[in-house]
Amino acid sequence: MKHSRTDDIVIGAGILGLSTAWHLHRMGRTVRVLERTARILGASIRNFGMIWPIGQEVGAPLDIALRSREHWLTMIERVGLWHEAEGSVHVLHHELEEAVAREFVARARDHAYSVQWLSPEQACRRVPRLRREGLRGALFSATEVCVDPRLALAGLQAWLEGQGVAFHWESAALEVSEGCVRTGRGAFEAGEVWVCTGHDLSGPFAELLQASGIVPCKLQMLRTAALPHRERVGPMLAAGLTLAHYRSFAACPTLSLLRESLRARHPGYAEHGIHVMVSQTQEGALTLGDSHAYGEAIDPFSSEEVDNMILAYLDRFFDRANTPVASRWMGVYGKHPQQAWVVLHPDTTTHIVTGVGGAGMTLSFGLSEVVVREVLGGPR
Ligand SMILES: Cc1cc2nc3c(=O)[nH]c(=O)nc-3n(C[C@H](O)[C@H](O)[C@H](O)COP(=O)(O)OP(=O)(O)OC[C@H]3O[C@@H](n4cnc5c(N)ncnc54)[C@H](O)[C@@H]3O)c2cc1C
Repeated sequence: MKHSRTDDIVIGAGILGLSTAWHLHRMGRTVRVLERTARILGASIRNFGMIWPIGQEVGAPLDIALRSREHWLTMIERVGLWHEAEGSVHVLHHELEEAVAREFVARARDHAYSVQWLSPEQACRRVPRLRREGLRGALFSATEVCVDPRLALAGLQAWLEGQGVAFHWESAALEVSEGCVRTGRGAFEAGEVWVCTGHDLSGPFAELLQASGIVPCKLQMLRTAALPHRERVGPMLAAGLTLAHYRSFAACPTLSLLRESLRARHPGYAEHGIHVMVSQTQEGALTLGDSHAYGEAIDPFSSEEVDNMILAYLDRFFDRANTPVASRWMGVYGKHPQQAWVVLHPDTTTHIVTGVGGAGMTLSFGLSEVVVREVLGGPR
C-alpha cells in the first residue's frame, strides 16, 4: 500500500521523535510518525523525567539544555501537563564532595548555571526529609524541571495527533532512502526523513550507527508507593556519587581525588555504575535509580544486589518513611563515549538524531530544534 506524501516522516515516537515532530508541526509542515511498537515503550517513558541542565557541560550541551527547558515549559503549558519546577539539590557528606561542589559554584558564576551552596540547615529547610546526620551541605540548582515521563510522552503524542500529525504504530521502518520509507505496512514518502530510533543499532542504518561509536547502556530503576499523605519532597535529589557521573563536574580540580575516595568509601558502586537520584510523581511516588551496564555487559536480568545498593545509599541521606518499592524496571539508551549526541545525514533528505545517552529528556527539544533549523533553515 502507498500512502499520501507528507513534508516530513519521523521514525521513532520517543522524546527525540516527538520533539522533532513538535518543531516541524509548529512550522506548518505535514508530519507523519512511524513507530515500530504498538505504543510508546522506549527509554523516554522509563526515565526519571528529569530536565537536568546542571548535568550538561559548558558550551553547546548546556546552551541546548537550557533552550530545551524553555521549549519543555512552553509545551507543558500548551499540552496541559503536570510538572514541578523546583530545581535540584545534590546532597553532600564528605569534604571532597563539598570541595567539588564549591569549585563548581565558583566556576558557575562565569556560565549559565544557576547554583548556590546551601548550609545543612538551608538544605533541610528545602528538603525536610533529608537526614541531618553527617550532612556537610548541598549544591542547589534552580534550573531543573520534573515531569512524569509516562504522562508527558502520552500527553504530547495525543496533542500532536489532535493537531493532525499522523501516527502509525507497529510500523517498523525497514529501509530508508531519498525520502522513501519502506515498512511492513507499505511505503511512505516525504520531503525529509528524521530518524530518531534511540539505542537500536540494527535498523535501516545499522552499519552507519554501529560505526558511529554509540554504545548501548542498561539502567535499573525503581519506583516506591506514594509517600504518606502524598507529601512533596521539594527539589529533585542527587548526592555525592552523582558528582562523578555528569560531564558538567569534570572541570572541577578535586574531582579525581573525589573519584578515588568514592571508590574506597562505596565499594562496588563504581563497578555497577551506580549513582542515586530521586524524582517524584504527581501522586507522590519516588522514582529512584540508577545503575549503568554498557555494551556486552547488558543482559535482560535485573540484579537484586544493584537495587539494594541503590536503596541503601538513598536511605543514608533521605528518610522515605519506610515507603516500600512498588515497581522495578530497566531501560536502555545509546550513548557516545565523547559526544553529547550524534547527528548523521546518510543522504540529502535523511537526518539521524540519536546518541543522547542519559540526557535525552534534557536535550530533546533544544537538540531537535537545532537539527531542524540546520536542515530547513530558519532563525537561530
Ligand atoms: C532508566 C533511564 C533513566 C533516564 N533518566 C533520564 C532523565 O531523567 N533525564 C534525561 O534527560 N534523560 C534520561 N534518560 C535518557 C533518556 O530517557 C533518553 O536519552 C531518551 O529517552 C532517548 O530518546 P529517544 O527518542 O532517542 O529514544 P527512545 O525513547 O528509545 O525512542 C526510540 C523509538 O524508536 C522506535 N524505533 C526504533 N527502531 C525503529 C524502526 N526501525 N522503525 C520505527 N520505530 C523504531 C523505538 O521503538 C522507540 O519507540 C534516562 C534513560 C533511561 C533508560
